[in-house]
Amino acid sequence: MEAQRSRQVVIAGAGIAGLTAAIAFAKNGFSVQLYEQAKQLEDAGSGIQLSPNATRVLAHLGVLDHLTGTAVEPRAVAIRDARRLRLLAEVPLGTRAEERWGAPYLVVHRADLQTALLARARREPDIKLVTGARLADAAFHQRGVTVSLDVTGDVREVPCLLLIGADGVGSTVRKLGNRDARAEDSGHVAWRSTVRRDSAIGKALAKAMPADCVTVYAHPRFHLVGYPIRADAAVNLIAIVRGAGGGKRGERGDPAVLAHLMRRTAEPLRSLAREAAPWSLWPIGEMQADHPWTGSAGVALIGDAAHALTPFAAQGAAMAIEDAIMLANLVAAMPDDIAGALARYETLRRPRIKRVDSRGRLNHFAWHARGPVAFIRNLVLRRRSGAQLAAELDWLYGFDATRLPAPEKKKKADA
Ligand SMILES: Cc1cc2nc3c(=O)[nH]c(=O)nc-3n(C[C@H](O)[C@H](O)[C@H](O)COP(=O)(O)OP(=O)(O)OC[C@H]3O[C@@H](n4cnc5c(N)ncnc54)[C@H](O)[C@@H]3O)c2cc1C
Repeated sequence: MEAQRSRQVVIAGAGIAGLTAAIAFAKNGFSVQLYEQAKQLEDAGSGIQLSPNATRVLAHLGVLDHLTGTAVEPRAVAIRDARRLRLLAEVPLGTRAEERWGAPYLVVHRADLQTALLARARREPDIKLVTGARLADAAFHQRGVTVSLDVTGDVREVPCLLLIGADGVGSTVRKLGNRDARAEDSGHVAWRSTVRRDSAIGKALAKAMPADCVTVYAHPRFHLVGYPIRADAAVNLIAIVRGAGGGKRGERGDPAVLAHLMRRTAEPLRSLAREAAPWSLWPIGEMQADHPWTGSAGVALIGDAAHALTPFAAQGAAMAIEDAIMLANLVAAMPDDIAGALARYETLRRPRIKRVDSRGRLNHFAWHARGPVAFIRNLVLRRRSGAQLAAELDWLYGFDATRLPAPEKKKKADA
């Protein structure tokens, strides 16, 4: 069993985190078994923004080439107020993002990202993907783990060096080993829809939402994000509202609820709620990430399983991608000291996740501001140049997760 265990990594969950980790570990010479509870990988029907800190990793892993032809590279992120559609600020992207941060800022359909990750994973003979297989339990030994899997009623035991929980916000791996942190309802619900560019609402939107931008419409009751996907054949829409809509993941939202919230906005936003229906609901969970993300016997959490972030900085998937590559590179760099590699992973990742979370809270505060606070926000934003706004994001988008920082030298004790 020891020989079987030595380079064997088991990953629970084949979402963005799990697929990226599988590729990163296989590239480092590990043998990966990737187990996904769903019988087939779902075509999650919505868009996602991939900032340069994420695309840099995807390029390094050979995934980005598989997105050519479907991903769109927007010219800018524009922030507008939803009542009058006035432009408040613009962060330049496109070639300027590539020059500044060394990698592109892209927007894609999630299904296209998943297809790209799968296509790349299939080129690695050392990745075995099993669907319809739910991680049910795990026994931790002094060196290594034995994982129990429920494969359509059959229980299978698999020995491994490392178990990675990439199983999302409701993570089973987190619950093993007493990682007793539960996701809480953030109180926000995402309303998601995709409209075809050549539909009546797609054409009407073109007047208010430049086709080459990610546009954020700020309003005290919601914020709406729109951007092109599928080689610009469609527009992805996400409205994030507090409380309204309730429902379970994937349920249809009642357009009348959204229409009521958006009633005091400019056309075509005012009629968007009804004309862009159906809207799919996504209640947003969040989690205090202060529980442990690793166990020295050989378990690590990545992505939403470790730290489900609210989507106000559009960084949940980017952080999952960064986690995946950094964990793989650390374990590869310290093969005889898994506990040390896992401890280092946590030490490196925690401050960054915390900072991203704070940035998301700042965005939420700014985008949902009302009255005098909104007035001051508008004044401040309009005075800031695109270059100034971009510079504030250098720490986030310029981060290179493909390179491990040199270990900090211990300070010599004062004589
Ligand atoms: C409205 C909205 C907009 C967003 N926009 C952005 C954005 O623009 N940019 C960005 O970077 N992020 C964004 N995010 C965040 C991003 O979607 C998530 O952070 C990311 O998808 C998390 O990926 P994951 O692989 O960690 O988890 P998940 O996608 O939840 O994947 C977990 C997988 O594990 C499987 N699983 C669960 N339990 C088990 C088990 N016991 N055994 C085996 N398999 C199991 C599940 O079936 C699933 O396939 C957004 C989120 C929301 C809600």
